[in-house]
Amino acid sequence: MTIKAVALFSEGLDSSLAVKLIQEQGIELIALNFVTPFSVENKDKKKQETIIERAKELNVELKLYKVADDYLRIVKNPRYGYGKNLNPCIACRIWMFEKAKELMSETGAKFIVSGEVLGQRPMSQKRRSLEIIEKESGLEGLIVRPLSAKLLSPSIPESKGWIKREKFFDILGRSRTRQFDLAKKFKITNYDNPAGGCLLTDSSFCLKIKDLIDSNMFNIKNISLIKNGRYFNISNCFKLVVGRNKGENAGLLNLAGKGDLVLESVIKGPIAIGWGEINDKYIQIALEIVAYYCKGKENDLKIKFSLFPGEEKNAVVKDKMSEEMLSEYIVK
Ligand code: SF4
Repeated sequence: MTIKAVALFSEGLDSSLAVKLIQEQGIELIALNFVTPFSVENKDKKKQETIIERAKELNVELKLYKVADDYLRIVKNPRYGYGKNLNPCIACRIWMFEKAKELMSETGAKFIVSGEVLGQRPMSQKRRSLEIIEKESGLEGLIVRPLSAKLLSPSIPESKGWIKREKFFDILGRSRTRQFDLAKKFKITNYDNPAGGCLLTDSSFCLKIKDLIDSNMFNIKNISLIKNGRYFNISNCFKLVVGRNKGENAGLLNLAGKGDLVLESVIKGPIAIGWGEINDKYIQIALEIVAYYCKGKENDLKIKFSLFPGEEKNAVVKDKMSEEMLSEYIVK
């Protein structure tokens, strides 16, 4: 009977190489990819298409796991702390392996495969971190990392002879030369950098995340909103996002939910969404901010606004917000 395993799978090269190295040994793989709200701005859709395409090329069954609020708890209170920014890499990897373990029992898979490389990432791929992750996820001996396997203790699948350790590698550190050679061998092209695209490693984005956390507004919807424009912290209980281009304006409209403040300039200008405690004072501030980003120099700008999905009202904004005031509110 063919042995099955679950592979943690991303658009990066290393996980594809790990899949190939395990497939070569006759193991059937189920690829597990996590869809998180922290993927780089405007790339989510493209990223998902790339992953689906890559799984097809590698001939593996793909499962997409959309993260929910239990993942956000890890970002808020990471058991093993943050990396350079708000990236809780060790806790995040433990969580991912726990989910992979659940899939392992559902599918009758025997072990987990990961493209991690010892010493490649400062936080989660140190030897000690790999050990913690393995232990905390309840997967001791059951994680196979083919790219660095020869530098790590033999896993259970290697010891039991389900897979051959000698077919694996001893890749260490950040150099990618050996992975690129392997990519050529396996004819894998168009891959992303490792960890490329996690916004939790982006210092400017993390200022916005921190503000959401501090304001008790940290949820999936608000994270999606702040990825779609300039973010303004008007107060602890009212926030505003202003789209920077057509794509972001459309994205914001798509995300508008019941009771959100939706603003749209009548002449060429941005769409904005405000949320939280909505009152006349905050509506006026939001109108002046939207007016600041409208094309044209004239005052008396007409801006439509509504409490979604309610009736639209028209406002005439006499004065755009001053640059000085704007800098008080913008988070960047
Ligand atoms: S870079 Fe982001 S996705 Fe990757 S382990 Fe760290 S927190 Fe998780």
